Amino acid sequence: MITLVNITLCLIIAFSSLSFAGTQEIDYDTLVVQAQNTPQKTESNLKQLLSTPDDLSPAGLVDVYLLLSQISFQQGRHQDSMRSAQRALALSKEGQLAKQFALAKVFIAHNLFERHDYQMALRYLNEALPYFTDIDDQKMMANIYITIARSYSGLEQEQDALLAYLSSFQIILSHQRWNQLVGAYTGVSEPYLWIDDAIEQIDKVQHEIINSSPYKKTNSASRLIDNIAIWQFFTLLFFTLVILAYWAFLQRKYQIVHLKKLTEAQQEHITTISTIGQEVTSSLELNTVAEYVYSHIKELFNADVFSIGIYNKNQNLIDFPFTIEKGRALEDYQIHMTDNERLAVWCIKNQKEVVLSQISDSSKYVTTEQTAAAGGMMQSIVYIPLMIEQNIVGCITVQREQEGSFNELQLNMMQTIASYTAIAVDNALTHRELKQASNTDYLTKLRNRRAFVEKAEYQLNVIERGKHELCFAITDIDNFKQFNDTYGHDCGDYVLKEIAKTFISLIRKQDIVARWGGEEFVFMLPNTNLENAQFLLDKVRATIAAQHFSYQGHEFKISLTFGVTQAKPEAGLTKLMNTADEALYLGKQNGKNIVITKEYEAL
Ligand code: GH3
Ligand code: MG
Ligand code: MG
Repeated sequence: MITLVNITLCLIIAFSSLSFAGTQEIDYDTLVVQAQNTPQKTESNLKQLLSTPDDLSPAGLVDVYLLLSQISFQQGRHQDSMRSAQRALALSKEGQLAKQFALAKVFIAHNLFERHDYQMALRYLNEALPYFTDIDDQKMMANIYITIARSYSGLEQEQDALLAYLSSFQIILSHQRWNQLVGAYTGVSEPYLWIDDAIEQIDKVQHEIINSSPYKKTNSASRLIDNIAIWQFFTLLFFTLVILAYWAFLQRKYQIVHLKKLTEAQQEHITTISTIGQEVTSSLELNTVAEYVYSHIKELFNADVFSIGIYNKNQNLIDFPFTIEKGRALEDYQIHMTDNERLAVWCIKNQKEVVLSQISDSSKYVTTEQTAAAGGMMQSIVYIPLMIEQNIVGCITVQREQEGSFNELQLNMMQTIASYTAIAVDNALTHRELKQASNTDYLTKLRNRRAFVEKAEYQLNVIERGKHELCFAITDIDNFKQFNDTYGHDCGDYVLKEIAKTFISLIRKQDIVARWGGEEFVFMLPNTNLENAQFLLDKVRATIAAQHFSYQGHEFKISLTFGVTQAKPEAGLTKLMNTADEALYLGKQNGKNIVITKEYEAL
């Protein structure tokens, strides 16, 4: 491989024979040869000279620095080389030594090139070039063009690089500088891996030229004609090389651009996927998970429909709590697993993807035509199962009106998104179950005391801010101790469960009932004054009192006593529950099976 070191060695020889001749004190030609053979010794000799700079002519001094710069450069000490070249530049400028000035620039450029500062290298080279063009120094021009070309290559400006190589070729060819040709040729070929192909092509061309050459057929007695033939052959060969190089360069450039684009796209996809993964799995709320997934699906695939289906094994159905169709959120809906005509059912049952590029493809999975949830006709439909190891959690669907909307890369991305979604959905479901369990009374399945307090505290905050009315009540089964003694504890539990169901059936949507503990229950009645609360609870009381219970052959009735109070902003929950309890106590004193109201009074 031809490197800048080789090129600069040529330069030393080139310039030394020109500039050193003017000085008297030392034998420069010898020094130049020494610089190549025994650089260290030469360097110390040159430094010796610098110790008495006054003995040197201004040009000689510059030459010493230039030589030092070259020796350091060859030895890879680019900082030293740069320093000497800069010194040479300053001194040559001062002494108005045009040739040394231009050479110093070339040497500085070589050092800049080694530092990969191609931009600055180009600046110095372009400043030096006119001088050598003016004095028609072909050798230096060719060298400068090669370094310019290499700098452009460094900047990935391949077109400019090639133009510079072509300039160097022109000089080399027109002046038959065959020794430099090797450098230029290697320079062109170096960045491109295709050169083997190019050489192969050239070999073929060479063969053809030789075989079809009229000169071959003539008697090669004429040396002149032979020389012309060789010259023409070389010219043709190198122009062929240049053309091939350019062609291969364009091919390669296209390939690089294409590869670059592909890599960039893949890089972008990886980044997107990892962002989605982080975002999606960071939430424990199903709705937030769904919203994150949807926002990305919409952006990436321009989806018209997106939905998450949750497989409910116990109820043998798929619940769709989150569906967006053309930007509109749809109500929660269910599909039963026995409905074999549904693609979602096929996907969950087979634990495999459903991919349709057009609606007619659906015949692979089902027999009837499919419509989207809201009835719109979708052509491109994908269902992907949400799997956690071997278990199916649900599915996601992405749909578009347009046919053939999703390519392989997009399907791969959907699968990756689905795998993150599966984890997030599973986490959210587990979280929901745990939360529900911690808020539910195991016997009656009503809210437990903890959950009630949480809701009640929240509601108390709301009325503090507004003027809403809110009532709290507590109820206790009458003579339950005796009931248990008579019918047994199991029967008592049965009653607790039954009255819980009756409560649920009688209260309004906004009301909350909870098991307070033992056989006591509490109610929270928002937007209700004391009078209305009494009315509502008396209905509950009367219903229970009229209810016939039967358990294991026993027939019986029970009754409840209620104490009710209305919330006041200044009273906390404990004080309000105590007031309700006081009312309940009054009820028990007054014959039971009654609803008693009591206003909260601050002490
Ligand atoms: P009162 O009318 O004054 O309320 O009389 P009571 O007998 O109901 O008295 P109290 O409310 O103090 O009785 C509580 C009884 O409720 C004690 C216990 O036997 C019964 N009990 C509490 N929790 C449960 C439960 O979870 N299951 C059953 N079977 N009984 C319970
Ligand atoms: Mg009690
Ligand atoms: Mg009781």
